[in-house]
Amino acid sequence: MSEELNPYKIAVQQLDEVAREINLDEGIHEKLKYPKRILTVSVPIYLESGKIKVYQGYRVQHSIERGPAKGGIRYHPDVTLDEIKALAMWMTWKCAVVNIPYGGAKGGVVCNPAEMTLKELEHLTRRYTSEIGIIIGPEKDIPAPDVNTNPAIMSWMMDTYSMNKGYSVPGVVTGKPLALGGSKGRFTATGKGVAIIAEDILKKQKIGISSATAAIQGYGNVGRATATFLHGMGVSIVAVSDKTGGLFNPDGIDIGMLNKYIDSKDDCSIKGFKSDGWVEGSKEANRELFKLTVDLLIPAALESQITTENVSDIKATIIIEAANGPITPEADAILNDKGILVVPDILANAGGVTVSYFEWVQDLQAMFWKEKDVDKNLCEVIHKAFHRVYGISKKRGVSMRMAAYILAVQRVADAAKMRGLYP
Ligand code: NAD
Repeated sequence: MSEELNPYKIAVQQLDEVAREINLDEGIHEKLKYPKRILTVSVPIYLESGKIKVYQGYRVQHSIERGPAKGGIRYHPDVTLDEIKALAMWMTWKCAVVNIPYGGAKGGVVCNPAEMTLKELEHLTRRYTSEIGIIIGPEKDIPAPDVNTNPAIMSWMMDTYSMNKGYSVPGVVTGKPLALGGSKGRFTATGKGVAIIAEDILKKQKIGISSATAAIQGYGNVGRATATFLHGMGVSIVAVSDKTGGLFNPDGIDIGMLNKYIDSKDDCSIKGFKSDGWVEGSKEANRELFKLTVDLLIPAALESQITTENVSDIKATIIIEAANGPITPEADAILNDKGILVVPDILANAGGVTVSYFEWVQDLQAMFWKEKDVDKNLCEVIHKAFHRVYGISKKRGVSMRMAAYILAVQRVADAAKMRGLYP
């Protein structure tokens, strides 16, 4: 991996920049560069063939200054420790930006779920949960879904942790099904948060929502929910892509029909949806998608997608980072110079962790909320964070990314300073 694409290097570089901007105490800056705790585990399982295969897994806790560590679990063949370290740090900032009482963490297993049976996936999840069980818990570190993990996997995690404890512990993970103590609105919360942010930023840019166009890279949990909410608000979604290719329709894709089509097939991909222009292969589709002249470009797949290689192609007015770390710092600086407004990931996709927080609160109180209350509270938290970040960016004349980092890092640094250094 080139250094431009190393996510941990990027995360530290971003922290260094904000430290300079706010004149951060040198000692606190040094402390925040490193994860508090890294656990590397071997995850041996029996495959259905009867053979044993060993997978590599990680759980990284970056900070617990403001509360228990919090962050998703990723299953992907390209998972690396540096990626998980970066994602854990970004979780710390994300929770601080929306002012929920959590630190940051992330977990991952190097595996390809597409090549595994359901039983193998369950064995992997249960063994991985047991291995990281020594550092997770409702008052210590609370995992959630991320790329290639879902409510079913969270159910196995909750059950495994509970079996090891000897009693049910619903608050150990969030993103669970409703029947196991999940929260209404959690599954689509990240996309809803992105849509709330889109509405706010379009208003600030004086672009009418019903005349706005959007292109979305990635059509999984976040991409699909974002597309569905934006479509419902009147935004025309002119392109979407996933790992199989991309759909293009300048008149707007029928998102309702596309979702129905995806639900009718096993692989959950957009491939084969006939009514729109199709580009085969993610590389080719993304190249086309990033070139589109749209109001909103929304990367919602993986990190390091907009780099110095393709940044000159970008013609969008606004980029909303629904994925974590989709723009490299070098590309980000070029976008800034080009006057393209970027809403950073730690603000844009914070809707998921916000409703995860609501889920955890409901689990701890064994008292569950109505969907309208979840929505109302989510809107309140995201709008408030957006306006705080936008205000800082205008007041200090900095990018929205820098403004979000100023708000987040200052909050974490203040907590660290007040707590002092043990012993
Ligand atoms: P997911 O696995 O549900 O979906 C990922 C999507 O990206 C799939 O449609 C996949 O086909 C597509 N994809 C993969 N490689 C691609 C490529 N090269 N080009 C185009 N599409 C590609 O994952 P998700 O939960 O939607 O997460 C997406 C991003 O959002 C990740 O960066 C994740 O960390 C971030 N995120 C997720 C949540 C959440 O609640 N799920 C919360 C905050 C941030």
